[in-house]
Amino acid sequence: MKLSLFDLHCDTASVMLAKKQPLAKNDFHVSLENAANFAQYIQVMAFFTSPKLDDEAGWSRFLAMRQNLLADPSVASGAASALTACPPRKPGVSLLFGIEDARIFAGRPDRVKEAYDLGVRILTPLWAGETCMGGSHDTSAGLTAFGRSAIEKAISLGMIADISHASAKSADEIFELAAAQNRPVIASHSNAAAICPVSRNLSRGQIAKILASGGVIGLNLYTAFLKKDGNATVADLLPHIEYFLEQGAEHALCMGGDWDGANLPAGVQTIRDISKLADLLLSRNYPERLICNLLFENAYSFAKKNLK
Ligand SMILES: [Zn+2]
Repeated sequence: MKLSLFDLHCDTASVMLAKKQPLAKNDFHVSLENAANFAQYIQVMAFFTSPKLDDEAGWSRFLAMRQNLLADPSVASGAASALTACPPRKPGVSLLFGIEDARIFAGRPDRVKEAYDLGVRILTPLWAGETCMGGSHDTSAGLTAFGRSAIEKAISLGMIADISHASAKSADEIFELAAAQNRPVIASHSNAAAICPVSRNLSRGQIAKILASGGVIGLNLYTAFLKKDGNATVADLLPHIEYFLEQGAEHALCMGGDWDGANLPAGVQTIRDISKLADLLLSRNYPERLICNLLFENAYSFAKKNLK
């Protein structure tokens, strides 16, 4: 079967700027070369800024990363299209933009609209610790007043709120903010806490709330979120997939590989190797339809409906 991939999270824009390598061919997980076998490939490019930078320097880095990506020869030539809505079904590579760790708004409300105008459609407000946005997964804090108003504004503009990296309290508040506007909530790159109990993974209650909101969940390939000892192979995705399916996520489960931001399981070196997950699922008698839903269709339907 010819695979298509719609992946909800990678940090490739950050390594492209840092290592000055192009999208076409590079040492990274994500490249056009590695995507060559896909019928269609859609990737959410998260702009993640190093925690070593203060919030203002982080904003400048975000602008530089975005500029660097837009100036990349493949993007400038249209070989990969940078978009703000779901592309039509046709062969090719499309990129959507996200911000991971919105502390770079630096307490400035005007930056939410600015980010939207710069093409950002997925907002992952938190990453680690307590910031101007609120508490991340490693804290017990909720959103700040600024975080609440920034996320409320982002949702009203049409951005998608993402609870990956949020604390339990922040996540609950994000669900409330999105529900008030009848908009979905996603977890772009998180797994099941019932299978691998780490603070970055999702509780049963969070999974239920995402599904009820019409949101999607991106499976993260990071070994430490697959298996507690971090010694994971691609087969360690199966218990997570099974669990999500038991929770009713058949039409919400997607990939959010954390490419170029994570240690990948043994045998997976680049996005090309997503075929190994497909092969494994086929060998375990999962239907082709389910595999296509997981790798592409669920995210595609979500984007079609929610990114206008
Ligand atoms: Zn992340």
